[in-house]
Amino acid sequence: MYNKLKMKIDSILKEYNQGVSFEFFPPKTEKGIESLQKTAAVLSAYKPLYVSMTYGAGGSTQERTKEAVRMFQERADLVVMPHLTCIGARGARIAALLDEYKEKGIKNIMALRGDAPQLDVAFDSSIQEFRYGRDLVEFIKQRYSGFCVGIAVYPEGHIETTSLAQDTDYTRQKVSAGADFAVTQMFFDNSHYYSLLDRMEKAGINIPVLPGILPLTDVAKVKQFASICRTTIPEHIEEKMGRFKENPDEMAKAGIDFTIEQCRDLIKNGIKQIHFFTLNKPAVMRRILDAIS
Ligand SMILES: Cc1cc2nc3c(=O)[nH]c(=O)nc-3n(C[C@H](O)[C@H](O)[C@H](O)COP(=O)(O)OP(=O)(O)OC[C@H]3O[C@@H](n4cnc5c(N)ncnc54)[C@H](O)[C@@H]3O)c2cc1C
Repeated sequence: MYNKLKMKIDSILKEYNQGVSFEFFPPKTEKGIESLQKTAAVLSAYKPLYVSMTYGAGGSTQERTKEAVRMFQERADLVVMPHLTCIGARGARIAALLDEYKEKGIKNIMALRGDAPQLDVAFDSSIQEFRYGRDLVEFIKQRYSGFCVGIAVYPEGHIETTSLAQDTDYTRQKVSAGADFAVTQMFFDNSHYYSLLDRMEKAGINIPVLPGILPLTDVAKVKQFASICRTTIPEHIEEKMGRFKENPDEMAKAGIDFTIEQCRDLIKNGIKQIHFFTLNKPAVMRRILDAIS
């Protein structure tokens, strides 16, 4: 009998061929931590494959990420994966954090480049020990044998890439550096995800790629975020949700119905492991999970 809690995510994905995973962000306040504790209790009922905790680029949320990861680790039923970014970071600082995670029994790391924070005066852009996500994957894999490493991939191409072919090649480099699995950027038209899987298969990239699903509740907010990460929102759903500008509950209902349909289409097409960007909102997640389970 294996112990899921001691497992690396690539093994979990092999052993459990269906399930969900949840991404959270580290709260800023004590109250937020308490609320996240409750969220963890609610969502653990869905027996997630794993949960993950984001990290502010440049280390801006390092302590909060660590604290939230610790909190999740206290729950015996959750496998937790911290995210880690390398832009503007020193190798020594990254190694110290990885040593700490290793000592605390963390087995999985989401390795990202991150984006230079615009408003953080403490961020030093002259530090360029790592240029790309690939460099962080390589750093982790060369120094540590015990970590399973996840990476980000982009169904519609990363915002800085000039072509999908180039994007695929950079993904291939991250996989050659040792990445074990991937999670996609949010997308709202599943055909982009299916095309990404196709491109990866043709390029001989053979790691699990979890679809990253953002529940749609506020179309204006998502549109703003989507525009900076090259994610398109289908016109029909933008138009439908836009009709409820004055009624946030109706807008959220239309969005959640759309997300449920999006997940059902994935499942119908054989995709049975789905990653959710929860935005730390358990009520929205429950509605979606109850509808698709
Ligand atoms: C699932 C998911 C979780 C995320 N979590 C976080 C988080 O917790 N914290 C956070 O700050 N951000 C997070 N992000 C955002 C991420 O940091 C940004 O999307 C960032 O812009 C790119 O990170 P990356 O690791 O994909 O970068 P990279 O893989 O380095 O790619 C960045 C750009 O460089 C290009 N590139 C890559 N390799 C090369 C090369 N060899 N030569 C030239 N160009 C190259 C790529 O095409 C791309 O345009 C997340 C994104 C996703 C999809």
